[in-house]
Formats: sequence, C-alpha cells, structure tokens
Amino acid sequence: MPRAHNFRQELVGCFGQPVAENPTQAMIEAAFRHHGLDWRYLTIEVAPENLAAAVAGARAMGFQGFNCTIPHKLAVIPHLDGLGESAALMGAVNCVVVRDGRLIGENTDGKGFVAGIRRLLDPAGRSLVLLGAGGAARAIAVDMALAGCGRITVVSRDAAQGQALTDLLNGKVRAVAQGVNAVHAPWRGDFAVPEGTDILVNATQVGLYPDVAARLALDVGTLRPGMTVVDVIPNPPRTRLLRDAEARGCRVLDGLAMLVGQGRIGIKYWTGIDPDEGVMRRALEEVFAD
Ligand code: NDP
Repeated sequence: MPRAHNFRQELVGCFGQPVAENPTQAMIEAAFRHHGLDWRYLTIEVAPENLAAAVAGARAMGFQGFNCTIPHKLAVIPHLDGLGESAALMGAVNCVVVRDGRLIGENTDGKGFVAGIRRLLDPAGRSLVLLGAGGAARAIAVDMALAGCGRITVVSRDAAQGQALTDLLNGKVRAVAQGVNAVHAPWRGDFAVPEGTDILVNATQVGLYPDVAARLALDVGTLRPGMTVVDVIPNPPRTRLLRDAEARGCRVLDGLAMLVGQGRIGIKYWTGIDPDEGVMRRALEEVFAD
C-alpha cells in the first residue's frame, strides 16, 4: 500500500537585520531533531521597512511563532495582538507566540536569565548589581524583580539610560513586584562592587568575540567569595570576568545559560515540549568552537 507523506513542516524563525551571524537556529533545530519534531527554524533577514509585511507573511504562512532581534524588538509591538507581562513592562519583544490565533509578544531574555540563575540560587530578596543599562540589562532587571529580587543597582556610563531603567523598576515594575528597590550608580573608573552584593551581572558587550581581551572597568578586588557572578556574553562563554571571579572564589554562570534558557522557553511556548537543554548547549558549543 502506498503510504501518505507529509512534506510540510511547522515553521518558526528569527527576523532581524543583520541576522546571518545569529546562532539560534543551531540550538533550536538541534532540539527539534532530538525530540523528533518535524519543525524548521528559519533565520530571515528583514529590513525595518519590511517588518509589517514580514509579520503579515508569518500570519499568512501559518508560522507557529518567531523571534525578533535587532532592530525589531520594539518596532514589532504595533504589529502584534497583545503582550505578555514582562514584555509589556520592558516595552520590548524577542519572542512571538501564537495563542488562540493571536500573535502575542513575549520577552524570553530575562526569563532565560532567571531560569539559569535559579540553578544556583533563589533570586528572592537578593541584592543585584547590574553592569550596563541597555536591552539585555533591561530584560534581566525586570524579570529578576518579578522573581523577587530586592535591591537592584544599575551601573552605567550613560546616566540618562541608567536613570530610565531605575525609574522603570521603581515605578511600573514595583507596582507588581513590591520588593524591588532600584538605584543608579554612575560608572566612572573601576567600579567597586558594594559589600552585601549577592549577584553581579555583566550586561554590556565587553568580552564579546572578537574583542575577547577587553577588560571591564571593575575593581576585581571587590569580588568576594560567595558572590554569584554572571556574564551575558555567549561567545566565548568563559570570559575574562568569569575567570577573575572564579579565581576569587565566586560562583559563576556563563552567557550560554541565558541563551539556552531563552531558547528553551521559546520552544516550550511554540511546541508545548520542554526541550533538553544539554542538546541545545552542545549545539552552540560546537558552533562557537569552529
Ligand atoms: P545594548 O547596546 O542595548 O546595551 C549595551 C550596554 O552596555 C549599554 O548600557 C552600554 O552603555 C554598555 N556598554 C557597552 N560598552 C561598555 C563599556 N566598555 N563599558 C561600560 N559599559 C558599556 O546591547 P544589548 O543589551 O542588547 O546587548 C549587550 C550584550 O548582551 C551583547 O554582548 C549581547 O551579545 C549580550 N546578550 C546576550 C544574551 C544571551 O542570551 N546570552 C541575550 C541578549 C544579549 P553605553 O551607552 O555607555 O555604551
């Protein structure tokens, strides 16, 4: 008996520009293969002037969802039908999910970060120092506040950007996460990590390939045993900051944890399956080892 075939895969993907260097496809498709899902994750170059058409195309072609990266994280919002809680607070979307036929914007960057850090400690009541105040810092700060974080010190060279994040945390975010108390610290010279800090996070691009020898303006003598030090840099995963922190007895978490964490949440949103993080991490390690 001839058997029925299915040559149609379920589609998800990533819209960005430039997007060719984005490694997400490698980890997501590794998970699809591992779990026997006949799905594809397409890496698609979308210029800002074509974003509306791309979203309409995703609807027309029955995409199950898609990631948005630079420069679309804010611009995509008017083209969607609704927002999840943290995406609404941040005003930024990196993952679009189809729910009851509606396109809902979520932000999985901060959630991926929180999932990674939970393996080391419970963020509730902890004191966090965040280096940087850009997109990654914003996502981390909002989701750490929603996870119960107490004091958040935003350290930035750009005072206006740092103050804007501090104001967001003490305003709209505190309305739903009462325990958060944010302060801005200007970043001049080598930053000294205050006593009592539980978690230090580098949320700048310092250390990212190819500038791997770049040094953060940080007084590493103020990294103390027992402190948890996290880097958002996924490539290379073992940054100069993490090496310094380990040498001083800190617990460390690398940028692959956040990248894999957000990818895992995206796959769960899209497919309903909770994928194997080990498979995803190994796929990225292979890509970055090239
Ligand atoms: P943004 O451009 O939005 O923000 C970057 C921030 O870093 C700004 O506050 C900027 O401040 C600060 N900064 C940059 N260089 C320095 C420096 N030399 N000293 C002090 N501050 C500095 O970028 P994103 O937040 O989107 O991305 C930041 C990093 O996070 C990237 O390397 C990216 O790869 C990584 N990332 C990792 C993810 C993961 O899953 N692991 C997810 C998302 C991002 P200023 O205005 O003063 O320059």
